[in-house]
Amino acid sequence: MTAEKQSQLHREEDTTKPCKTCKWQTPDPTDPLRGQCTVNRSAIGGVWKRWIRDMVHMTCSRHEEGKLSFRDHV
Ligand code: SF4
Repeated sequence: MTAEKQSQLHREEDTTKPCKTCKWQTPDPTDPLRGQCTVNRSAIGGVWKRWIRDMVHMTCSRHEEGKLSFRDHV
């Protein structure tokens, strides 16, 4: 087990890795600029979601590019 710390989701105006392009994000169906981060859902079985208030200007160190093919049925 690693005791790696979560890097907090934070605002970064000119980020090259916005949540918008991250495979862990799930867009809000009513507002595409917002969404939820599901990065921890597959980690240790814990459900851990966070609201992303600005998909384009927020990021964190967990950013991974990829298709939104990840699905985890609750
Ligand atoms: S892992 Fe980080 S960059 Fe990706 S959606 Fe979650 S908060 Fe955003």
